Amino acid sequence: MGRLSVHIETFGCQMNVADTERAATKLRAGGFDLTDSADSADVVLLNTCSIREKAEQKLFQRVGEIKNARIGRQPLIGVMGCVAQLEGEGIFKSSPSVRLVIGTGATDRVGDLLERAVGGERRVIDVAERKESETYEISHLERHSSHIAFVPIIEGCNKFCTYCIVPFSRGRERSRAADGIIEEVKRLREEGFKEVQLIGQNVNSYRPKVEKGLEGHTGATPFSRLLRAVASTGMPRIKFTTSFPRDFHPDIVKAIDEHENLCNWVHLPVQAGNDRVLRAMRRGHKVEDYLSKIASIKSSRRRISLTSDIIVGFPGETSEEFEDTLKLVRECRFHGLYIFKYSPRRGTPASKLPETVSEAEKTRRFLALETLQMSIQREVFQSYVGEEVEVLVEGFSARSRDDLTGHTTCNKVINFRADSDLIGKIVKVKVREAKTHSLYGEV
Ligand code: SAM
Ligand code: SF4
Repeated sequence: MGRLSVHIETFGCQMNVADTERAATKLRAGGFDLTDSADSADVVLLNTCSIREKAEQKLFQRVGEIKNARIGRQPLIGVMGCVAQLEGEGIFKSSPSVRLVIGTGATDRVGDLLERAVGGERRVIDVAERKESETYEISHLERHSSHIAFVPIIEGCNKFCTYCIVPFSRGRERSRAADGIIEEVKRLREEGFKEVQLIGQNVNSYRPKVEKGLEGHTGATPFSRLLRAVASTGMPRIKFTTSFPRDFHPDIVKAIDEHENLCNWVHLPVQAGNDRVLRAMRRGHKVEDYLSKIASIKSSRRRISLTSDIIVGFPGETSEEFEDTLKLVRECRFHGLYIFKYSPRRGTPASKLPETVSEAEKTRRFLALETLQMSIQREVFQSYVGEEVEVLVEGFSARSRDDLTGHTTCNKVINFRADSDLIGKIVKVKVREAKTHSLYGEV
């Protein structure tokens, strides 16, 4: 038999993108080919997200689509990621055509697991933890971009916000040792990458077991020391996401002020603008605490772009409490906002609370918040007109082959007319026009 081809589809956050890159690296080294086409692949792996019920339903819908698209030989279908970890054996029952279940801790073992399935084992499952001995490796061939690399620094979460499934699907917090992170960033720089994004559910809760790699770098927390250590590699641009408000130390802002290559963007999810709701969510911060973190970000000598996440319709959230969220959004003037309608997740404390907000009311709150955010965002984006921003050119714009596209250091999408030989380079662009979600400019 020749080499079998594998197609991996990724749903959800950057952690899943990074896991797909890691799995692809293992598979290619194990003698499999990787393909972009689900229609012709011998094996289709779905790397899943479980943050909301809708995301989970997508998996079963997609398995059906893959099967129905083939007339002859069916592919071997496997499920990876958060749904695999949570549902385990249950997936074989809900979707009998799935033959392989690979939990979030088993990404590195994907090659051996697939060999067993290909070898004839009817059902193969691994939802065990990651082994300490497993090293973090991603081949540059498997990166989602040839200019920007995701570098996970912490996995899992210990916070147990009452609505959230992540501590169950990704397990407890585990920080990667700094020396491995630094080595990876240096290697990426040599390979020509222009930007790294340090990723994790809560990057600023970074707390490695060992000092290695952080020696000689000062800072109030291990994370701000890591930021300075990564900055000293000379990687041209460094971004990090997501930051957890309770653990956000002003020293992070200081580090950004000191190092030009630490980008001027902070993603700091607030979730709600009312103290009772925040307590019920068990976020560990009050509105006032959040505002003081924002004040430290706004006091930076650079203009730091601030983005956030908000959940509307948490159980028990009254209209007045939702008004408090609108008030907070008016005050913070976020440069971007992800709005989520609350979705109960099985096993979480909030799922046991009575759902007091109807679906129609959740939609109303979602739209009210979105309308407010759009009006703020239009003004914020407009204020960039006339300014010069630094852009990593990522490729052609989706709308027109005449335009190139990239992100600014403050993580805004910007399009501009220029020659394609600028792709992969960092250029200065003068902003000429602002839209709600993007900027337009000229080199
Ligand atoms: N660790 C980050 C933090 O604490 O802000 C968030 C990580 S979570 C993967 C991304 C976002 O999903 C959260 O900020 C939250 O807004 C949203 N989310 C999580 N659970 C949810 C739920 N049950 N219903 C709706 N949105 C949810
Ligand atoms: Fe989920 Fe809260 Fe952990 Fe973020 S901090 S991943 S919202 S439990």
